[in-house]
Amino acid sequence: MADLLVVGSVALDTVQTPFGRAQEVLGGSGTYFSYAASFYTRVRLVAAVGSDFPADHERFLSDRGVDLGGLMREAGGRTFRWTGEYGYDLNEARTLDTQLNVLADFRPRLGEEARRTPFLFLANIDPELQLDVVRQMAERPRLIALDTMNFWIQGKREALLRVLREVDVVTINEGEARQLAQEPNLIKAARRIVDMGPSTVLVKRGEYGALMLTDKGFFVVPAYPLDSVYDPTGAGDTFAGGFMGYIAAQDALDAATVRRAVVHGSVMASFTVEDFSLQRLARLKSPEITERYAAFHELIRLPG
Ligand code: AMP
Repeated sequence: MADLLVVGSVALDTVQTPFGRAQEVLGGSGTYFSYAASFYTRVRLVAAVGSDFPADHERFLSDRGVDLGGLMREAGGRTFRWTGEYGYDLNEARTLDTQLNVLADFRPRLGEEARRTPFLFLANIDPELQLDVVRQMAERPRLIALDTMNFWIQGKREALLRVLREVDVVTINEGEARQLAQEPNLIKAARRIVDMGPSTVLVKRGEYGALMLTDKGFFVVPAYPLDSVYDPTGAGDTFAGGFMGYIAAQDALDAATVRRAVVHGSVMASFTVEDFSLQRLARLKSPEITERYAAFHELIRLPG
């Protein structure tokens, strides 16, 4: 079992879906990722919050064993806030408001131990911060994966292209893959992203599952068929948490491990969407992960 380091956002989210509204609840790419990955391996979270960040939220993460040594509390600062909504099509979030607050001038400083973490995830955050973390690593991690979104693709394209050259895996939404590649065909878009640096592209397609492109070809996994989707927020980050968590736990990068990791990503995402914020994950027990993984196995089994 190997350790995992993540830099990402820790947020207070306000979310509206057709099934309800959640006001200033715990969110953030680093939060969802680290909580999901903690079911698999030891995770260190590098992030910043303001003095308004509730101590309960911090305890919630540390109770799961997430190492918060890299969580900076900016005295007098305000925590990052995101407001989004989903229509009946739950596959795409519409951002109504983004307040970077403490993330606007956050400069992560990694400790000696953190700089030697073998698996690194650059969760959705300013690509300049993502690059800053890569540059601070004392040794090249065995695997670096990155996630991003339209906000940064539009606002910091050059910085994003720079950090993409340094990573092995990209996880990205379908629409954002097209936007990044400037290409409407998803397959061509994935190939174009590979040309930008990473050897593996994992396209998240919401209720339609995930598609992986590597130099060995394609791999596709459906989403778990659920009749109780309440809030898709965090699905992408927990997908990445299951994916990277499983790989770090196995400490292996062979093709079979990577394929199983994609299924673990889908398993973790399928839990997240069953409730608002991290509430479903808070009730999650490890045997449920094993059970749902087995259900996936059955779901995609072809007769011999
Ligand atoms: P997802 O897994 O793609 O649904 O990510 C949802 C999380 O991303 C929310 O909890 C937000 O707090 C966070 N988020 C939204 N916009 C940004 C942004 N521009 N930078 C960093 N994190 C963000």
